[in-house]
Amino acid sequence: MLLAYVHGICSRKSSFNCFRRTHFLSSTRFLFPSKRRQVRAPSLHLSCLYTTREKSVNSSKPILHPKITILGGGFGGLYTALTLSRYPWTRLTKPKITLVDRSDRFVFLPMLYEVAFGQLDKWQVAPTFSQLLQGTDVEFVLGQVEKVDVQKSTCEIFSTKYGQKEFYHDRLVIAIGTEPSLSSVPGADKYALPFRTLEHAEQLKQKLVNLTKMRRQQNRKPVIFVIGGSYSGVELASNVAEYFRGEARVCIVDRGNRLLDAASEHNRNVALQTLRSLNVESLLDMEVSCVTENAVSLKSIQESTQESEKKFDADLVLWTAGFKPSSWLQFVALEKDPTGRILTSSTLQATRHDNIFVLGDAAAVTDVNGQRCKATAQVAIQQAECAAWNIWASLCNKKPVPFRYEHLGELMTLGKYNGTAEVFGIPLSGTSAQFTRRLAYLFRMPTNLHRLKVGQNWVFKPVSCFFENFSFPL
Ligand SMILES: Cc1cc2nc3c(=O)[nH]c(=O)nc-3n(C[C@H](O)[C@H](O)[C@H](O)COP(=O)(O)OP(=O)(O)OC[C@H]3O[C@@H](n4cnc5c(N)ncnc54)[C@H](O)[C@@H]3O)c2cc1C
Repeated sequence: MLLAYVHGICSRKSSFNCFRRTHFLSSTRFLFPSKRRQVRAPSLHLSCLYTTREKSVNSSKPILHPKITILGGGFGGLYTALTLSRYPWTRLTKPKITLVDRSDRFVFLPMLYEVAFGQLDKWQVAPTFSQLLQGTDVEFVLGQVEKVDVQKSTCEIFSTKYGQKEFYHDRLVIAIGTEPSLSSVPGADKYALPFRTLEHAEQLKQKLVNLTKMRRQQNRKPVIFVIGGSYSGVELASNVAEYFRGEARVCIVDRGNRLLDAASEHNRNVALQTLRSLNVESLLDMEVSCVTENAVSLKSIQESTQESEKKFDADLVLWTAGFKPSSWLQFVALEKDPTGRILTSSTLQATRHDNIFVLGDAAAVTDVNGQRCKATAQVAIQQAECAAWNIWASLCNKKPVPFRYEHLGELMTLGKYNGTAEVFGIPLSGTSAQFTRRLAYLFRMPTNLHRLKVGQNWVFKPVSCFFENFSFPL
């Protein structure tokens, strides 16, 4: 409640009236349903729709039922689709919204740990798109995007339903995220396990079970290396160490000279203290030179002699270091930054292509205050609201609003009942931080219905478990 209230206040401070309204709507909708009536959503008139077939989004030829194609159903894409579907389009002006994803499930990535460590069920963290889009007019296409032709305004999508098919769009949203970049280290592609998708979480869950069996059979502690000392690496390392309760050797490796370099002071201190208490070994100023089936080689980045390279036995290597945009994106004729992310204006429109909106991890966005947006879900969700508004504005010949990022806080899991958080400047740690984290994520789930189902489960499951395990003394 507190979070929702404070978030509402913050949103009200936002300087763009139109953006503020939608932002406020979605952030407080569940806990304060009455707010919905106060929000003045954009009213759409047939006369305000404009075609982009002539490239300019402001050409004066009206079109009926503009086609909006959204590539990627993650935080950026799905939340844009849902926001657009809530706008009060009239029957004639209603756009045809198509959401394309290669998976049939949306994944709430910040809670991927809960799936891997068996703390939550798959349906809670990764609901299907068909469930989430129920009752909306968004069409979901299960398919792999293979090509975008910015001149012809088409996308080539391969799906089992349609085979290879070309989709025409009046407005395009690119929100396909990034993928793990393992190819630079020999053997990493084959032997390291990245942590980026639902499949990775399920594979990790299975590997943890196998390592537990191995420990019992061979009577030796498994050795687990976590590569990358940023948020995901530290969260994984602490959860793995907690899972084995001292019965495994867990090492975390980073090229830098300290872990969690980008985190807040409070979160870094709490996380480091937790890693120490769980006996996680930190190997800093080291980079991975090679991964094999049962070993990992590390070399010091300070001395680059051959003696500085060390080989360690490893039963499992978890990879959280480095993500890159999808390789097919390099063939899309849009301007990119040196890392391959698509450059946009502060209104989230691709450079020189006003009918293409790019957001989330695949976009290189500098917001209206000049701050470079990070690759986080928090950024992608806020961008989705702005992109949806600007798509509407571009169809109505209205001025788009620039994106302004509001940092709401930082939440980390460090174990089943342990975490660290800094929300609106308030530092929390331990169970209260984990509780706040879960509550904030529940509140951020994509639809009311899913939020309700998950919330109900979190409340009633412990109660029913208690009664199941309770035996009356006879
Ligand atoms: C383990 C983990 C923990 C994280 N924790 C946090 C956190 O606590 N807080 C936070 O703010 N951020 C966190 N992040 C980062 C956050 O999840 C991302 O920044 C966010 O998901 C980016 O949103 P997106 O829409 O750009 O991409 P994604 O959410 O990755 O979505 C991209 C979608 O595009 C689809 N796709 C990709 N390529 C294709 C293709 N060729 N064809 C069809 N579909 C395609 C994918 O299937 C996916 O559904 C975490 C990330 C990970 C991996």
